[in-house]
Amino acid sequence: MEYQGKCVFNGIAIGRIAIYDKGDGAVKQTTITDTAAEVARFESAKEEAKSQLAKLYEKALVEVGEVNAAILEVHQMMLDDLDYIESITNMIESQKVNAEYAVSCTGENFAEMFASMDDDYMKARAADVKDISTRVIGVLTGRGNGGINSDEPVILLADDLAPSETVQLDKSKVLGFVTRFGSSNSHTAILARTMNIPALSSVDFPSDCNGKMGIVDGNKGILIIDPPMSVIDEYHKKFDEQQAQRKLLQELKDKEDITLDGKTIHLYANIGGVGDVASVLENGATGIGLFRSEFLYLESSTYPSEEEQFKAYKTVAENMAGKKVVIRTLDIGADKQVDYFDLAKEENPAMGYRAIRICLDRVHVFKTQLRALYRASYYGNISIMFPMIISEKEVIRIKEIIAEVKSELKAEGVPYKDCEIGIMIETPAAVMLAEELGKYVDFFSVGTNDLTQYTLAIDRQNAALDNIYDSHHPALMKMLQMIVDGGHKSGCWVGICGELGADTTLTSEFLKMGFDELSVSPSMVLKVRAKIRETDVSKL
Ligand code: PEP
Ligand code: MG
Repeated sequence: MEYQGKCVFNGIAIGRIAIYDKGDGAVKQTTITDTAAEVARFESAKEEAKSQLAKLYEKALVEVGEVNAAILEVHQMMLDDLDYIESITNMIESQKVNAEYAVSCTGENFAEMFASMDDDYMKARAADVKDISTRVIGVLTGRGNGGINSDEPVILLADDLAPSETVQLDKSKVLGFVTRFGSSNSHTAILARTMNIPALSSVDFPSDCNGKMGIVDGNKGILIIDPPMSVIDEYHKKFDEQQAQRKLLQELKDKEDITLDGKTIHLYANIGGVGDVASVLENGATGIGLFRSEFLYLESSTYPSEEEQFKAYKTVAENMAGKKVVIRTLDIGADKQVDYFDLAKEENPAMGYRAIRICLDRVHVFKTQLRALYRASYYGNISIMFPMIISEKEVIRIKEIIAEVKSELKAEGVPYKDCEIGIMIETPAAVMLAEELGKYVDFFSVGTNDLTQYTLAIDRQNAALDNIYDSHHPALMKMLQMIVDGGHKSGCWVGICGELGADTTLTSEFLKMGFDELSVSPSMVLKVRAKIRETDVSKL
């Protein structure tokens, strides 16, 4: 059976289907007679959960570094906490309930207790105790963990995935990615592109296809369930062709980003974390044009400390070995929700309390990040960029806070560099004020995803409006030219880091407009390079 959807990222995936398990299925209470056997069942599930965590820790060490992996060690220790274990065994023995139920109740009770504490560190343990309990319940029910119930790589089907769920996926286990809802402009879609896996959205798949064979054809936007052998063979051939094409593109890996008539442009890549740097280098990007730092916050169950952030930024800067790394400060809010920020529910979150608005309001959070960034700047070529700017007032205030941070570091004798600072142009207000805003900063990077939503008044999260979310709209094209002109007049370099930067049907247009930089998903770098190298700007 074939199911039509929208293409989020092209390419072909062939494999077994697994339906994403949010792990929030209610735990049923049953009465048991052999309490000793039930306690033993819990003990062995706990040990299995610990060994899963130990393996995950090893993997995380390599992928995200020691600081970010540390939480998995904490989780292992929490599973050995005597109060936690006693509460569970006591419930099983005294109330004669099943282990899943005892773990679930204890998890909830402990989480409530932690959440009510005054100490911020202890408050944050509430999410951890829920997490470890979900893992043990996963082992007890055989439901597994991390949303994927399989040891083999799979085609993952989900109703929708939040960005926080997507970043936690074991990337090595996902061949393809299909969601029932979700817009192709959402951050989940952007993550799928960064992960370089074929992905579709708006596919109305049947819910009983778990474990069946599937094919994702990201080029045609279709999911095929239970295909006959002949179709599988046909797709294996297409898959091989796709691999051969990727290999061909690899020949461009070390080539320059220069047009036929000698015009050069910087071609950088977008990342969400330390783990993405490998694919930036594999694809030959000459820098990082957007590091979405908020993913450090999304992956964490509490505010990442200055030290944790410093290590992440320093690692990226060092791994990029002197190449430019543009790090965007926290852009939380809207679809990127983090429990511990305790953000109020809003009628219009995309136009609400988000990004720089939060940072200028919760200055201590902002300063922690800026200190980490400036400390890391010493170890590479870091530039700092600020999202969602609408006024000169904001930029002036940001610069005051930067000056405070620098003078504190200086007084402490901590080394830092005077890095370039830039702003994202993603609101119509910033477009209209480009020349004025450019006087305060060194560069602009156009966030076309948000600029499209705010210019066309179309919620980028609303899949029903995907068909009119027209990022080629003439109003936007006019704005892009205004941004380049305004930026250049005030001495800024100007780039694009929104998804439109990777649209090769517009590459020659961007060159003609005068953009200095394009920053795209790592998987798109070589395609854009190929396009740049076949363009003759003088003939446009
Ligand atoms: C954008 O808005 O184009 C952008 C790059 O930022 P984000 O997609 O993270 O909002
Ligand atoms: Mg944006």
